[in-house]
Amino acid sequence: MLKVKKLLFLLSLILSPYLLFADGHIFVYHRFDDNRYPTTNISTKELRKEFNYLKKHNYKVVHLIDIVNKVNRGEAVPSNWVAFSIDDGFRSFYTHGLSVFREYNIPFTLFLAVKFTEKKYKDYVSWKQLKTIAKYGDVEFHSYGHGHFGQMSNEKIKADMNKGLALMKKHLNYKPNLFVYPYGEYDERVEKVLKDYNFKAVFNQNIGAVNGVCSDANDIDRSAVVGSNAHDFKLYLKFQELCGVHFQQPKTYPKDKIVRTVEVTLDDKNIKSADIFISNNGWTKVKVKNGKIIWYANKHIKLNRIKIGVKVKSKIKLMVLSK
Ligand SMILES: [Zn+2]
Repeated sequence: MLKVKKLLFLLSLILSPYLLFADGHIFVYHRFDDNRYPTTNISTKELRKEFNYLKKHNYKVVHLIDIVNKVNRGEAVPSNWVAFSIDDGFRSFYTHGLSVFREYNIPFTLFLAVKFTEKKYKDYVSWKQLKTIAKYGDVEFHSYGHGHFGQMSNEKIKADMNKGLALMKKHLNYKPNLFVYPYGEYDERVEKVLKDYNFKAVFNQNIGAVNGVCSDANDIDRSAVVGSNAHDFKLYLKFQELCGVHFQQPKTYPKDKIVRTVEVTLDDKNIKSADIFISNNGWTKVKVKNGKIIWYANKHIKLNRIKIGVKVKSKIKLMVLSK
C-alpha cells in the first residue's frame, strides 16, 4: 500500500507540476464591469481569461463547501481545486457576472450583506434576483449591516447577525452555513461571539491558500483579484498555506501608528529565513532562529487597517489588525 502511495505521489509530481506549488485556492470578487470602483471591480473579459486559464491547466473549480468539508475533516485540499466567492451582493454580478459563470458552468458562492438588498439600494441585487442567482449557485451570509465588528459591542454584533439571518430565512428560506467577516475584520472577541452561530466555516479576505490539514475553519483565506491583472491571479495560484504560524506581536492595532516589533513563532524549527510583510511597507527579509522571528520593525503605518504577513518560499500567511 505504501509503495502504491509513493508511486502515485511520484507520478503526480511528473504529471502535474502545479501540484508541487499550490494548495486549494479561493478567490473573491465584488463588482463586474463596473469601472466606477476600480479597487473592487473585475471586467468580465478578465474573468473569462481566468476561467480559460484554469481550464487549460486542469484546475477543478469546486463548490466552496467542498473545500470547507475537507478543512473540517482535516484532509488535504487537492492542489488543483479552486473555488469562487462573490461578496456583498452588488447588482453587477446579476447583470454582468452571472452569465459568464453560467457559460463556463463555474460554481460560486455569493455572500450577502443583507441590509443593502432589504433596503433596496440601487447598486445591489433584489430578493427576486437572488432567487434566480440561487438556482445557479449558493447564497451565504455576510452580516446584515456590513459593519466594523471590531468596533461593535457583543450585543450590537448579535443584533446585526440575528436580523440578517432572520431576513435570509424569510426571503430565501435558508439558514446559512458559511460566513464572511465584513471587511475581513475580526479579533478574538468577535470570533468568540460568532462561535454561537455554528457556521461550518468563516472566511477572511487575506491572500493565501487552503491547505486543509492545518487550516482553521474559522479563518479561511480568500484572495481578491481586481482590475485586469491576470498576473496576480496566476501568482496567487502558486501560494501555499504556511502552516503552524503564530502571530505574537503586535496583537492589537498600535495606537501610535508605529509597528515596533513583529514577533512570530513557526512550528517548523528548520526554517532559517522568512519574509515579513507590513501594509505599505512591502516585504522585508528576516532571520528565523529556532522557529522564532523577532523583528524590530519600527514602521509607521498610515492605514486604519493593516495586514502583517509571513512568507517562506511560496508559503504565505497574513493577519489583519484594525483600529
Ligand atoms: Zn463585504
